[in-house]
Amino acid sequence: MYVKGLKCRECGRRYPKEPIFVCEWCFGPLEVEYDYEAIKKMFTRKELEKREPNLWRYRELLPIDGEPTFGLSSGFTPLIEAKNLASVLGIKKCYIKDDSVNHPTLSFKDRVVAVALSKAKEFGFKTVACASTGNLANAVASHSRGGFNCYVFIPVDLEPSKIVSSLIYGVNVVAVEGNYDEVNRLCAEVAMRYRWAFVNVNLRPYYAEGSKTYGFEIAEQLGFRAPRHIVIPAASGSLVTKIYKGLQEFYQLGLINEFPTRFYIAQAEGCSPIVQAFREGSNIIRPVKPKTIAKSIAIGNPADGVYALDIARRTKGYAEAVSDEEIIAGIKLLAETEGIFTETAGGVTVAVAKKLIEKGIIPRDEEVVICITGNGLKTQEVLVNHLKSVIRIKPSLEDFKKKIEGGE
Ligand SMILES: *Cc1c(COP(=O)(O)O)cnc(C)c1O
Ligand SMILES: [Zn+2]
Repeated sequence: MYVKGLKCRECGRRYPKEPIFVCEWCFGPLEVEYDYEAIKKMFTRKELEKREPNLWRYRELLPIDGEPTFGLSSGFTPLIEAKNLASVLGIKKCYIKDDSVNHPTLSFKDRVVAVALSKAKEFGFKTVACASTGNLANAVASHSRGGFNCYVFIPVDLEPSKIVSSLIYGVNVVAVEGNYDEVNRLCAEVAMRYRWAFVNVNLRPYYAEGSKTYGFEIAEQLGFRAPRHIVIPAASGSLVTKIYKGLQEFYQLGLINEFPTRFYIAQAEGCSPIVQAFREGSNIIRPVKPKTIAKSIAIGNPADGVYALDIARRTKGYAEAVSDEEIIAGIKLLAETEGIFTETAGGVTVAVAKKLIEKGIIPRDEEVVICITGNGLKTQEVLVNHLKSVIRIKPSLEDFKKKIEGGE
């Protein structure tokens, strides 16, 4: 409705609303451009408060022309004040934005897919597809039902739960013998040959806009204000750039009065190309070969890495990485303090937040939002040998007394 067209992030050339993603002139990524003057006239706090609690409440700032057709119950996940976690981390205030309970596939990818498939339908595509590290495949598989043929492409060594959580919807799951970056390269070639909607390839400009809703919700749930500090996990870096864009848009539209947010990028040490560039003070991101338990964010050649890096620097934030051991400790810490079971990517964010607070980079007398983007039920195998054993007893009071200390 309010989309003017696409615009190259690098050279500013404009393109019509089509399923294209790269500038023919300079190979820069294309981004959706809106008519903010028109949006400002009718998109107000008052208007918003009347709307349904799902991500389409922000539809003026999403790139569809007609009515939304997918993800009608996705988004508007809880923003929780995490008092127990704040006290363990030794910080004044801590919030968890909890997409581990997003509907229906338990990760923030329900947001991007809701937008991408609504757009794919407007474009008249019959087949949807994606290159995925797991959660995106689950979301595309689930949302595509009843509307499209569906192919999801994943690296062959994904967690079993993430494979089952795609197969269950009866779609075609293609396991590529390679890492995510190889899956992605293959998908770019397939997308050029077939008229398929690859949500994160040829529909990427539209798809990526869905991530803004994560940022819109944080601002709205804080009572229409931007947080001071936010820690975000980065795979391609897209979520970081879109939370930024979302808060910037709210600021520009007058929905929030200030935008003092510092952006912190969280990665796993075993796949941390953005963090490496940050540490080196470089603007160039050197691709790496991923080796980490945080498979959902294991992208060695991040498409939006340079833009995410720029945001961390410009907002006086930071970029930090943690080891696999620290990731597991992060998952356990969140579970034990707040009762939230997150996947490895959430372990990364919690562990990075902890590290940044300990280093004094995030001040203890301020507030931080920690982004939890996926659910722990999908990556249970990483916890084997890291948890207490169950207490096994016979069905007798005698055995109960014997085995359970202080049971009386
Ligand atoms: C995909 C994903 C991310 C980050 O994705 P970006 O490519 O950086 O936008 C973070 N957490 C989880 C659980 C994911 O599945
Ligand atoms: Zn260009």
